[in-house]
Amino acid sequence: MKLLLTGGCGFIGSAVVRHLLRHTDHVVVNVDKMTYAASEDALEAATQQSRHTLVKADIADAQAMHHVFETFDPDVVMHLAAESHVDRSIDGPSDFVQTNVVGTFTLLEAARWHYQGLNDERRGTFRFHHISTDEVFGALDHGDPPFTETTPYDPRSPYSATKAASDHLVRAWHHTYGLPTIVSNTCNNYGPWQFPEKLIPLVTLNALEGKELPVYGDGSNMRDWLFVEDHAEALVRVAEHGKPGETYAIGGRQPRTNLDVVKAICAHLDKRVPDAAGPRERLIRFVTDRPGHDFRYEIDPSRTEAALSWTAPHDFESGLAKTIDWYLANRTWWEKLRAARYAGQRLGIAPAAKGKAA
Ligand code: NAD
Repeated sequence: MKLLLTGGCGFIGSAVVRHLLRHTDHVVVNVDKMTYAASEDALEAATQQSRHTLVKADIADAQAMHHVFETFDPDVVMHLAAESHVDRSIDGPSDFVQTNVVGTFTLLEAARWHYQGLNDERRGTFRFHHISTDEVFGALDHGDPPFTETTPYDPRSPYSATKAASDHLVRAWHHTYGLPTIVSNTCNNYGPWQFPEKLIPLVTLNALEGKELPVYGDGSNMRDWLFVEDHAEALVRVAEHGKPGETYAIGGRQPRTNLDVVKAICAHLDKRVPDAAGPRERLIRFVTDRPGHDFRYEIDPSRTEAALSWTAPHDFESGLAKTIDWYLANRTWWEKLRAARYAGQRLGIAPAAKGKAA
């Protein structure tokens, strides 16, 4: 298959590219605008392979997207390009609307035009797979059942609102124009090559450097964690075997409180790189929360697991150990990013107030 993948130099997109080149024979065209979140290094061996082509372009550029479809004539689209950091969406939502909503609309229109020109056989197998988040479902409280494919939408941040808008556009293009679209919604990912503004790399690197680890509220906020390479494998299965019009909730069944996550990072680092000053949990500081912070996200992946014959191979502890070891072995990549902008940044961890965000 020829796959057109957007956002393939980002954290999850690059894991999908690496997976495709290692485990399949597919040809990959990687469309990426190369924002601050992109890293060509994350493609690793893919950059040397003729089955991978990187096209530097903006998904909101209609002419560029038509050109990409015309030139590469893809069989499947995997759409991951997005502005993805919640804190940034609060500080400046405009880029989120532009890329996540206008960009998705532009890509859908280019895909629709491409699809209309395919013969019946290729139309039968063409897929537009849109990768989304569980944050579109809002926040859970203690005891609420986890999110499923049928949970009503209730986004709370500019990030999740723009992702929700893009999910609705994708489904509308299926119902209205017959474009064979698929949506997957996934919980928090972690793993190698994640930009050091996100929780797990940020805590790991702050702890490594002996910096304070501020935790919002009492640290009881809960997220469901999925190792990025497991997610990449599931996404490729969705793209290959998913049914048009369907939604797939992908999760690792690994809910943890933010305090548990921070303590697990400290414990693993203490084991791998002991700190003469003592256990790193001493660096934890509870700080006043930011407003409107969702309390709990958790996915019930039962339906997807059955449909795709897939369960996440890593539990949180084994995935975290691999992740931390990767950051320890790849200092040159993150040190320059940290030095530029992120040293000492406050952590996006837990709110003080439980329950639904205001
Ligand atoms: P990321 O921020 O690491 O990477 C996004 C990539 O998209 C970057 O390479 C960036 O250059 C590219 N991009 C941004 N705007 C673009 C544009 N206008 N045109 C072309 N390329 C553009 O994000 P990620 O964490 O890899 O997330 C990938 C997708 O998965 C996103 O759609 C996100 O909403 C979704 N998702 C992420 C998580 C998570 O935990 N990271 C969880 C669930 C869903």
